[in-house]
Amino acid sequence: MTVFQPLYSGSSGNCSLVTNDLCGHGGALLIDAGVSCRAILEGLSQAQVQPCQLSGILITHEHSDHIKGLRVFAKRFRTPVYASPEVLAYLQQENYLPEDYPAFALSEPAEISGMLVSPFDTPHDSVHSLGFRIDTAQGKSIGIATDLGTVTESVRAGLMGCDLAMVESNYDASMLECSSYPYYLKRRIRGNYGHLDNLGCAEELAELAKTGTCQFVLCHLSEENNLPELALQTVYGRLAQDGISAGDFRLQAACRQLPSPQMVL
Ligand SMILES: [Zn+2]
Ligand SMILES: [Zn+2]
Repeated sequence: MTVFQPLYSGSSGNCSLVTNDLCGHGGALLIDAGVSCRAILEGLSQAQVQPCQLSGILITHEHSDHIKGLRVFAKRFRTPVYASPEVLAYLQQENYLPEDYPAFALSEPAEISGMLVSPFDTPHDSVHSLGFRIDTAQGKSIGIATDLGTVTESVRAGLMGCDLAMVESNYDASMLECSSYPYYLKRRIRGNYGHLDNLGCAEELAELAKTGTCQFVLCHLSEENNLPELALQTVYGRLAQDGISAGDFRLQAACRQLPSPQMVL
């Protein structure tokens, strides 16, 4: 059984969990470690996963809402870390990982405990930014794309045909327009290397639905410039335009401060 569970999501910190055949020979992966070590442990405990059962931590990019808890967690548990060569260099340089740490540069697909992890580039203003596709030996697949200014060919190809996709739905365009954010910040968020808005996310989910994806998670919702109901309604409305009714797929917006419901594949 493969289970996906967002533990924390948003600019206050991101961390998700994938477990695959945990009772058998499988493993578990964390995606990002952007909350405190204590919060990660709390999330894992709620998911009934021991830290020693983790086979790896995949890091999308080096912004603090994705690596905040990594230094302390890594020191305590020495879970192998996987990231792009650029992000790995940053993590080592900034002492997030001790010198002799089991850390692996991910530029090609890698097999981790029966899961094939394929990285793909995401357009974002960090030293480098990755999305991940995780294919299990049982033929299940999960695609993760967070923090992306736009949906590029690489993102589209990475997510295509996944059973479950978690995609950023950061802001509602008119809420951002009216917000008190300074102009330069609005421009950064809207830019091609910033964040994806509700409409952009819904458009991508509609494309994915055509390739058979039927479980969706909206992630990294802005606290100031979005509302979960608004993000969800945007997706329901867009998929309805293609004749896909709510009963045909499962959709949730990842919770900010606590583990979201598990999604079983
Ligand atoms: Zn970021
Ligand atoms: Zn982020």
